[in-house]
This record gives sequence, structure tokens and C-alpha cells, in this order.
Amino acid sequence: MLSRLILRLFRPQVYKRYLFYEQSQWWDKERLEAYQLKKLQELLEYAYKNVAFYKELWDKHNIDYKITSLDDLQKFPITTKKMLQQAIKEKKISKQYIYKLNTDAIVWQTTTGSSGKPFRFPVDKESEEHKNGLRRRLYKWYGLDYGVKWAKFWRGSYKKSFKEKVKEFITKEYRFCIYDPKYPKETELNEKRINYFIEELNKIKPEIIDGFPSALREIANYMIKNDIELSFQIKSIVTGAEKLDDTTREVLSKAFNTLVFNRYGGTESSIIAHECDIQARSEHKLHIQEDRLIVQTDKNGEIVFTDLTSKALPFIRYKNGDIAQINENYRCECGRAFKVFDFIEGRVNEMFILPDGGKISSHLWQNYMKKSQGIEKYQMVQNEDFSVDIFWVKNKDLFNKNEFEYVQKLVKNALTGCKVRWNEVEKIDPLAGGKFRQHICKVENGFSYSR
Ligand SMILES: [Zn+2]
Repeated sequence: MLSRLILRLFRPQVYKRYLFYEQSQWWDKERLEAYQLKKLQELLEYAYKNVAFYKELWDKHNIDYKITSLDDLQKFPITTKKMLQQAIKEKKISKQYIYKLNTDAIVWQTTTGSSGKPFRFPVDKESEEHKNGLRRRLYKWYGLDYGVKWAKFWRGSYKKSFKEKVKEFITKEYRFCIYDPKYPKETELNEKRINYFIEELNKIKPEIIDGFPSALREIANYMIKNDIELSFQIKSIVTGAEKLDDTTREVLSKAFNTLVFNRYGGTESSIIAHECDIQARSEHKLHIQEDRLIVQTDKNGEIVFTDLTSKALPFIRYKNGDIAQINENYRCECGRAFKVFDFIEGRVNEMFILPDGGKISSHLWQNYMKKSQGIEKYQMVQNEDFSVDIFWVKNKDLFNKNEFEYVQKLVKNALTGCKVRWNEVEKIDPLAGGKFRQHICKVENGFSYSR
């Protein structure tokens, strides 16, 4: 098919990785672990010999990078966003890449900052190809093969250029913008916009829908309330970036009359775990992508992952801030030997509600706050009377008045009709249970169907 051919011709490395991951998902436990150990040994040696950050860290802890079993990974110190940010700042990343940071050998990635503060880091091209090749394999888990039309409800640009439209036509990936920070009013998820989405879906007839659960739930709820059905049958829905709770899964499944798949990952790790079709139908456990990552949890149940393909800035025993439970002994009927997550906490996003009923995705706030480096950390709470309290911690070194006022203006503009209060605080405490929630909406009936 055309799109398969295009991938093969223009991104041969990604295609090659994809073929590899198509095979490796069926390896048995022994083969998988042997592969992990070999890759891990290579990674640790590479990091020790090339990455000053790791050399210093492990020397300080008296740790030998040479290991003989996967269990040995346990003794390596945990790394955090803060530590890696510092490593980038001090140029202690891989010496192979330090002078290539602005070349096409590197792709810069930035986290959305759902854990408080955005993180910008370099990824080498080869690691990026692994991530994309593996993503291709996962497409097939929910029925997305080459040439299949799919709709992606995501953050992005509200206005599409001609080039983007051509790309859509070739890749069959049709983008539906659920929020564009440049057009908060136009991309507000209200009746008009939802009706537009439904019309477009009926026109394009994609087989797959991919999106944030919170946004898809809005659409699904509207469809159920108004007795609207799509004029065609979709094959599946896949959600990511936020926690998919059971109620949302039910609502989506009902409105779109289809199977819903859950995906879990992050910017630092790319996709960590995914449901196969058996899990999507039954217990909702997610297969950990163990042929690219080694995933562990610490004593508090927090996820610690090691990316076996990362070189420019290796992620070794990196704690991403989410809480999960790993099940090592579960056997899925699909035949894949990967460990599973019994559950994953975290990444709870909440939409804010305008007095006129419009809803705003919290990704908008993350995008705005990123624009002022002086905002070290923030939390937004929408109160029952629609007013919004923003608690924020100032980074005195990076604070710039103009930047900050610009962000204030953006926020005010998006929250039409809501009173906004900015409260500078010394620190923001996590809620009971230890989990930080960045956006909290207390407006009554906002999510009445899910509570
Ligand atoms: Zn399975």
C-alpha cells in the first residue's frame, strides 16, 4: 500500500525497527530477558564511558557498570528530571552528541509539564527511530494498519496548512484539534465544535479514533445525550496522555459502539505500556514494552524506567512520577510474554468549565505556563462559583515580568467570565495519597456523569 511504501522509502530506519519489533513481541521470556541483559550491558558501558553525568553519579555511589544479571540494575541510583536537567545544563550528556545538539542527529523533546515543570531534553535520532518503529507495531494492536484512515483528537494547530492537508491525505492520519493555545476560543470544546467534529467524522469515515479520554468523553456524552450515532462503524478507539477510567471507557464504548484501548507513556519514555485486544475486552491490564524499556517500581510504587535505546541523554533508572503496580507472573492469552501493569495512577487531568458551558482542556494551561520560566510550579483550582485560583511558586532567577504578564493575559483571555486570582506561594503540597494534581475543577455538574 502507498503509505507502507512511503514509510519504507522515506523512513527506512523506522521501517527496519518496526519489522524488528513485530518479531520481538512474540519472544518467550528467556529470549526477551537475554536481549534485555545484552542491551542493558551495552547501555551501562556506553553511559559510563561517554556520559559524564552517569560516570560521576555511579563513581560517587561506588557502582561498577559491569553487570551480570538484570537484577543488578536495582543497585543503580534512581535519577530524576531535576538531575537530568542539571546534566544538560552542565553539558554532561553524551560526549558523542554534545557538539551535535543543533544538528539533525538530535530531536529535542519537551514534556507538557503535568508534574509541575516542563523538561526539554535531547534525543538521538536512532532512539527516536526505535520509538517510532515500536509505535508502528502498537498501531496494529488496535487495528491500525497501513492505509487505514484514522482520526487523531489531539493538541495541535487549529488551522491546517496546505502541506498538512497533503500529509493527511497521504498518511491517512486526520488531525482534529481539541485545543490550540493560539486559538483558545475557537478550539473550546462546546456544542458547535462537537457538532463540527461529528460532521467531519461522518465525512472522512476513519476506522480508528485516537485521543485524550477527557475530550473524547465530552463528545461521547454529547452524542448519547442527543441520541446521535456516527453514520458508519469504527473499528476501535485508543486513548492516551491521561488516565482512562472505567466510566469513561464505558461512555466511549457506548457512544461509538466499539472497543476502547488504553495506552500509557510519557514524553521522556515514549509508550511504556499498551493493552492488547484481549485486555481491552477483559481485565484492562497493559503490556509493558519490555523489548525497548526495563520498567521497575520503587518502594513507594513509583515507576522507574530504563530506556534501552537512549544514547544522547540516557534514561537509566528514571523516575517519572507516576504510580503503578507491576504484575510479573500474569500470562495473557494473546501469548506475549511481557509483564503487565495491573493499574496505573497519575496523570489525572481535569477540564475547566466556563459559565456558558464551554470546557477547556487542562493541556491549554500547561502550554501557557511553559511560556514563563519564572513559574517554577503551579496549581490551578476552579471553584464552585467558576472563579479560578492559581497557586504558583516563583523561580526568582528566571522570573521576567513581561513574560509573566503575558501568561496572565493569555489565561485571563481563555477564562472569559471567570474571576482569576494569582496567589504566589512558597510551595505546593501534594494532595492526600501523595499525588500532585495540577488542575482541579470543583464546578458542580461539570462531570456529573462520571461521579
Ligand atoms: Zn495480551
